[in-house]
Amino acid sequence: MSTTRDYTKSEHHEFLEATEAAMANVGLQSALAKLGTTLGQRNRDAFAALPQSDLLRERARAIKNDTLARLDEHLATLEASVLARGGKVHFAAGGAEACQLVVDILRGRGATRVVKSKSMTSEEIHLNHALEAAGFHVVETDFGEYIIQVAGQRPSHLVAPAMHLRVGDVAKILSSAAGEPLPADATELAAFARRRLRGEFAAADAGITGANFAIAETGTIVLVENEGNIRLTTSLPRIHIAIVGVEKVIPRLVDLPVFLKVLARAATGQKMSVYTSLVTGPRRAGELDGPEEFHLVLLDNGRTRILSGPLRESLFCIRCGACLNACPIYRNVGGHAYGGVYAGPIGAVLTPLYDGLAENRHLPNASSLCGACQAACPVKIAIPEMLIQLREQLHDMPGEVGRLEAMAYRMWARTIGSPRLYRVATWLATRVVGRMRKSGWMSRLPGGLKGWTASRDFPAPAASRFRDWWHDEGREGRD
Ligand code: SF4
Repeated sequence: MSTTRDYTKSEHHEFLEATEAAMANVGLQSALAKLGTTLGQRNRDAFAALPQSDLLRERARAIKNDTLARLDEHLATLEASVLARGGKVHFAAGGAEACQLVVDILRGRGATRVVKSKSMTSEEIHLNHALEAAGFHVVETDFGEYIIQVAGQRPSHLVAPAMHLRVGDVAKILSSAAGEPLPADATELAAFARRRLRGEFAAADAGITGANFAIAETGTIVLVENEGNIRLTTSLPRIHIAIVGVEKVIPRLVDLPVFLKVLARAATGQKMSVYTSLVTGPRRAGELDGPEEFHLVLLDNGRTRILSGPLRESLFCIRCGACLNACPIYRNVGGHAYGGVYAGPIGAVLTPLYDGLAENRHLPNASSLCGACQAACPVKIAIPEMLIQLREQLHDMPGEVGRLEAMAYRMWARTIGSPRLYRVATWLATRVVGRMRKSGWMSRLPGGLKGWTASRDFPAPAASRFRDWWHDEGREGRD
């Protein structure tokens, strides 16, 4: 009986098909071409202008590391702080449980209309789908999220969910919501969304948000944004529900400025986001606005399992999107090709961790390991090392390495373990293969190796070996 997972092979082919389609999509390519010079450049400029930015990134990284080392204590403190300020705390082990918790909270209070702010955590658990299936009216209020909700699509970028669309595409999508043609003009389209969303805010029973950080000592959740929709989502409806991954906790209020300084710079190149909201419990006596109820749903969904494993560092991620803007793969294929909620280099780590490595075996290999992601990351996450670690795990899974590939590895190991064999192999490479080369590259490899050259060239062996050159130079020790 074969142990090869056919379904993983088909996932792999789907990935290849999706990347080919993305690279042939002219509109997507024109949007992606700007990433490096817009968000990517702004990130680099912002950190270059920040004194001692490297120390700040190290500090952010150290806080994350220390916090995760005592995550249980910080979560207990956070829970106590939220309760002390009149909020309620719910723990959800998985996505389905979190969705059910939210449904129960809403049903228990007779809520029917929900406004949402942008939240990758709620995307991760497919909350919109669960709420709509339960009969709730749910509207995204971030402009990009609203566009893709109307279009029935998934976000393609962590901070710019509709970056794959051009203004003409957006006009067509929003015209369907308007019931009349809207002009392909960004200002007009934003004005339409603003008018439409105002009514939704006013009628909503509940606002659902994520959180960028949750401060344990004060029970405060912190939300950063540029549009102001989060302020309305958290203050107008009578119920506020925040769904937050457990890794978002930070111990103290004094830790927050470290993250605020690096987050906005990494995400958009801003010194600070336009709005930073600190929400601490429901409205108190004498306050003019704010919800009557505040619920904090703390989501595990595999995070505590990751915490004890070799890819723990992935939990440092503050979802800024900088690694996407820096990645040469993402900048060629966009977010949808990755197939999961999280795209780009960090998505290639998170999706296998959350949704299964076998089912997402293509993702750890969707990287050139150039290190641009790690260099751009405000918390210096070693993404390339984690991708290599995932490749090693894949290699150890039964059926993942074919017989031919395994034989090739064995032959390679034997060859480099024997000086005599190595000499023969390098002689063959230079005398036989090296003569076939044109301009240093080979455009077609034979047999089972042809997959390598299906979409790129292979570097040809040098025309002469180093050991021959060494000898020709009259030096000793040729053999
Ligand atoms: S891995 Fe780093 S750069 Fe990428 S989204 Fe997370 S924090 Fe930002």
